[in-house]
Amino acid sequence: MGRLVYINGKFVKEEEAYISIFDRGFLFSDAIYEVTAVIDKKLVSWEGHLNRLRYSLSELNIKFSYSDEELFSIHKKLIVQNKINEGLVYLQISRGKAERDFAFPKPEVEPTIVLFTQIKNLINNPKINFGSKVISSPDLRWGRTDIKTVQLLYASIMKQKALDLGKDDVWFENNKLITEGSSNNTFIISNNGTLITRSLSTKILPGITRKSILEYAKKANFNIEEKPFTIEDTKNAKEAFSCSSTTFIMPVVEIDDCKIGSGTPGKHTLELRKLYIKNVRKELI
Ligand code: PMP
Repeated sequence: MGRLVYINGKFVKEEEAYISIFDRGFLFSDAIYEVTAVIDKKLVSWEGHLNRLRYSLSELNIKFSYSDEELFSIHKKLIVQNKINEGLVYLQISRGKAERDFAFPKPEVEPTIVLFTQIKNLINNPKINFGSKVISSPDLRWGRTDIKTVQLLYASIMKQKALDLGKDDVWFENNKLITEGSSNNTFIISNNGTLITRSLSTKILPGITRKSILEYAKKANFNIEEKPFTIEDTKNAKEAFSCSSTTFIMPVVEIDDCKIGSGTPGKHTLELRKLYIKNVRKELI
C-alpha cells in the first residue's frame, strides 16, 4: 500500500494525488519547499523550518493562508499514519495553477500544497563511517539561493556527475570561494581546531542544521569563524563536513581527489555530530 500524502486540503493515497499540468511549479519552478527530519516520530527544528518557509513565501510573494498550527498538524498526521519513526517530511508549495503566462496570475490563485514522507535511517546512517567524497564545480545556480525554491536542476545534474565519477557529492564555488554543497551547507575545521563556515548571504541557503550546529558548538566552546573559504583551504584543512536535515553532519574526506586530513571521518566532526544529535533530541516536537 502506498503512502498517505497531503494535497490541497486532503489526505489521500499517493496513487491518487495529482496536480494540474498548468501548475506553475511545473511550468516555471514557481514553488518553494521545506524538508524536516523526524526522529522518534517527532520533528527536528520545526520552528526554524517554519520561519524559513515563511521567508521563502514572502520573498516570492506567494500568498499562503495556512496557519503554523495547521501545517504542524498535517506533518504530525502524516508521521503517525505512515509510521515514520525516523525519516523526512517534505512540504512543497507552488504559486498555484493558472493559464501559462510569465506574469503572476491575476486575480491571485490558490497555492498548491503537497506534503509527503520518506522513511530514512538518519542517525545510524552507514555512510557516516566512510564519509563523503566530493568534487568541486562552478556555482551556476541562480543568484537567490537563500530562497528554498524547487529550482534544483543544476544541483541535480552536478550530483549525478559526482556519482558518475564514483564520488558522492559536489561543492559549489563562486569567485574561488565555496558557497555550499548540492543540498547542504559546508564547514571546514582548520589545523588549529577552528570551525569555519561561510557567512549567510543571498548566495547560500540559511541551513537550519548549520544554525543549530553553530549554536551548539558555541556553547561547547568551539572556536568559530563565519567567513568564506576556498578549495585550497579545504584541501589543507584538518577536517571538513557538510550538513543538512537529511544527513545532519556528514564527514567529507576528499575533495577533487585530494584527501582531507587523514582521509577518514574527522574526530571533531564526529564529536560535533554526536553533540548535534544529543541537543536536537532535547528540542523535538
Ligand atoms: N543548502 C542547500 C542548497 C540545500 O538544498 C540544503 C538542504 N535543504 C541545505 C543547504 C541545508 O539546509 P537544512 O540544514 O535546512 O536542511
